[in-house]
Amino acid sequence: MIRFDQVSKRYPTGQEALSGLSFHVEPGEMVFVTGHSGAGKSTLLKLLAMIERPTRGSVTVDGRNLATARASAIPRLRRKLGMVFQDHRLLMDRTVFANVELPLVIAGIAPAERARRVRAALEKVGLLAYEKQAPALLSTGEQQRVGIARAIVAKPPLIIADEPTGNLDPRLAAEIMGLFDQFQKIGTTVLVASHDLMLIKRTRKRVLVLDHGRLVDDVPATEVMA
Ligand code: ADP
Ligand code: ADP
Repeated sequence: MIRFDQVSKRYPTGQEALSGLSFHVEPGEMVFVTGHSGAGKSTLLKLLAMIERPTRGSVTVDGRNLATARASAIPRLRRKLGMVFQDHRLLMDRTVFANVELPLVIAGIAPAERARRVRAALEKVGLLAYEKQAPALLSTGEQQRVGIARAIVAKPPLIIADEPTGNLDPRLAAEIMGLFDQFQKIGTTVLVASHDLMLIKRTRKRVLVLDHGRLVDDVPATEVMA
């Protein structure tokens, strides 16, 4: 589903954020990307989201090389991707329903079908009763679950999450990981950037470790010790 082949990323400042990074992730795998602040985690996610382009090497998602994709192909490629952010990035002046509906509006899905899919997504994250609420009235954990419903509503084959539990206590963080685990079980590929080692050890998935833009370890799920 994801293949990085000798990927380097140098920002215009001269900072090399990723150096010769190679790895691949099979369809339906769930993987953590970890490392200290500045290791290159966000840059890796930005390459997948096509917010940044690699300086060298290729990034392939679902068989398409993002490094050579035309700008006009980016919206269509991004629809393969559900993104979850640490600060959830919900629109506070719209209802929970409208927030989750947004990707379907952009994809041009008809209203009746949108309503059906939004409710299915809210049901999956346990928030169906909140559809008419304003996100500001929800707890932080609930807001993050709305962000996850929005990421999965268009059924992307790949979910990428940047520190999705950074603002949550351990119990809520475990709950969010449980949701990702469920999506993985139905065949979605999940990539989570996190520096929360406790959470990573408890969740027991494959771990890619970055240090100064290089891949320094790739630990299979079976070798992650609690
Ligand atoms: P992480 O997410 O692991 O903290 P980042 O990918 O944000 O790491 O950063 C990797 C390195 O690239 C850091 O040295 C950071 O300062 C630098 N960096 C990140 N974004 C930019 C940018 N837009 N311009 C210049 N340097 C950047
Ligand atoms: P995050 O890792 O959550 O993106 P950061 O604080 O690392 O948060 O970065 C905030 C923004 O600043 C990002 O868009 C990132 O690309 C950019 N950035 C990070 N480091 C640098 C840097 N050294 N020079 C320029 N921009 C940077």
